[in-house]
Amino acid sequence: MSTTVGVIGGGQLARMLIPAAVNLGIDLRVLAEADGMSAGLAASMVGDYRDFDTVLAFAETVDVITFDHEHVPQSVLRELVARGVTVRPGPEALVFAQDKIEMRRRLGELGLPVPDWAAVENPTELAAFIAEHGGRAVVKTPRGGYDGKGVRVVTHKHEVDDWFTALAEDANGGALLVEEHVPYTRELAQLVARRPSGQVAVWPVVETVQRDGVCAEVIAPAPLSSGRLAAVAADIATRVAEGIGVCGVMAVELFQTTDERLLINELAMRPHNSGHWSIEGSTTSQFEQHLRAVLDLPLGATTPRDEWSVMVNILGGPAEGTLFDRYPAAFAAHPSAKVHNYGKDPRIGRKVGHVTVGGADLDDVAYEARATAAIFQD
Ligand code: ADP
Repeated sequence: MSTTVGVIGGGQLARMLIPAAVNLGIDLRVLAEADGMSAGLAASMVGDYRDFDTVLAFAETVDVITFDHEHVPQSVLRELVARGVTVRPGPEALVFAQDKIEMRRRLGELGLPVPDWAAVENPTELAAFIAEHGGRAVVKTPRGGYDGKGVRVVTHKHEVDDWFTALAEDANGGALLVEEHVPYTRELAQLVARRPSGQVAVWPVVETVQRDGVCAEVIAPAPLSSGRLAAVAADIATRVAEGIGVCGVMAVELFQTTDERLLINELAMRPHNSGHWSIEGSTTSQFEQHLRAVLDLPLGATTPRDEWSVMVNILGGPAEGTLFDRYPAAFAAHPSAKVHNYGKDPRIGRKVGHVTVGGADLDDVAYEARATAAIFQD
């Protein structure tokens, strides 16, 4: 009998786990939110991940539960664990990817570098923070944000009144996270994997380029990161993974500041867009590594296969027709590009696929990857 891994969520991350599972003879099953999802080809159940009975019924068919996203409620996860289900990463780690205030608090306790922050419950407290930080701050909803939704740069205490009102109506109450507006020169991401018995593996730190709050491009390794910067980023991610007991792959999103510090922005406790390059670009991809880690198997080497890898997201997709219609043009012009199609309907801003190119010359690699992705979006 083969080992069975259950993934909650049917998005593209679950989809990209499928080939890694097939190669290792692992039986991968997916609890998808709806029919026709990106990971539909492995969907063994369709149902609501917020409903305990649905999730338990799914969990009973697998050896270990893991995730495509971080939205499964803590109450559901804790009850699963209480019933003896193996959940990786576990709820006590996952909470730090679900709640940005909890994350800031815990990282502070661990002595890790984060922006100045506070939890604010009303406009008066927000005004005080803005005044102490040069008249500008970044406010975030602690839960449920993604791709820049739930993040606002503010200069005035009343710019997030709608969020304060929503909090007041929420039975759980709570606060908003406010942070200094970090003077950063670029954004980096450090991917790390940790298995329950303790082994940790890191990939090289990468540069992520965001447009309109969405990751547009990733350069691996981050240019100008061959020395100490890479070691500091790897050390930070290792300390986070060990400090909060992560099982599986985690991405630590970092700001590199104008005075050359690295500050932690966010944690994602699953394979991450910043690691898609590793499918072709690393000896062990983030998807294979995630499976190894959640099954507590020895981790694979993370050595890059190429000097440079550039990954460009296909955002939105073609105005007419499908990605498939553009294959002849893209494949003819760019035979070295690796195209990934998530099987999703094109929609403005939506991540519908990505392109990775690897090679020895960064300019050529970036050109090939960008030019290929451009063929799929207009
Ligand atoms: P999400 O959960 O939506 O991905 P993030 O916390 O990663 O939200 O923020 C989205 C983007 O907003 C970041 O990629 C960065 O460009 C910008 N941002 C977030 N926090 C700060 C900050 N403290 N200072 C400056 N820019 C920020």
